[in-house]
Parts: sequence; C-alpha cells; structure tokens
Amino acid sequence: MSKTLFEKIRDREIPAAFVYEDDRCICFKDIGPQAPVHLLVVPKTVIVRINEAVESDESILGHLLLVAAKVARQEGFAEDGFRLVINNGPHGGEAVPHLHVHVLAGRQLEWPPG
Ligand code: AMP
Repeated sequence: MSKTLFEKIRDREIPAAFVYEDDRCICFKDIGPQAPVHLLVVPKTVIVRINEAVESDESILGHLLLVAAKVARQEGFAEDGFRLVINNGPHGGEAVPHLHVHVLAGRQLEWPPG
C-alpha cells in the first residue's frame, strides 16, 4: 500500500519543519498556513479520519490533543490562546486522508469558521 503524504513526512521522504516528535506522533508546520501559527499534529500510525477511528484508537486520539497543548506551551502561544481543528470528509474540508489535528494561533480567530 502506498504511503500517505504524512507518512512520507514522518519518514523524512518529504521535508517539513518539525517542531515536535515522540514515539506516537509528529508535529510540523503546515505548508499553507491559515494563521501566523499553523501546525499539524499527526499520529505515526494511520487513522484515515476521525469517522473511521475505533475503540483501540482512544489512547492515541487523547495523546494528539495533549501533544497539541504541550506544543502550544513549548512554542509560547498557549496563554494567548489557540484553536484545534480536525476536518472530516468533504463538507469538513478534509484534503489529506491521514487524521491530523490543526493547531491554529497567533491572531484572533473568528467564530463561526467559514
Ligand atoms: P486537511 O484539509 O484537514 O486534510 O488538511 C491538510 C493540510 O495539510 C492542509 O492545511 C495543507 O496545507 C497541509 N499540507 C499539505 N501538504 C503539506 C506538506 N507537504 N507539508 C505540510 N503541510 C502540508
């Protein structure tokens, strides 16, 4: 089976600006930032999208959120605030079928999102 885009980034076959890595996930800068800070937190093992996650993914899903907050503190934008987003399917705006958490920060974010 061919690798997802994010597996290729995980394996350093495609370059990315990494800000964090551990045994279960990676975090790197989004190539098309939608805010002054736009990071992606991605599990090393593929979950296609949140709608296809299963019970055994519970731990890694929680880990991704904790890492997002850890990276926010590490990079110094936790206090000002940030937004976590998971896009699912066509109406959700999903483009890459390898689950990832967007971390957006660095400006006042609007609500509702577009
Ligand atoms: P989504 O629309 O939720 O699937 O998000 C996919 C994200 O991946 C988009 O925000 C893209 O800008 C981002 N992206 C696509 N290719 C790359 C890349 N090579 N390095 C970093 N981010 C990327």
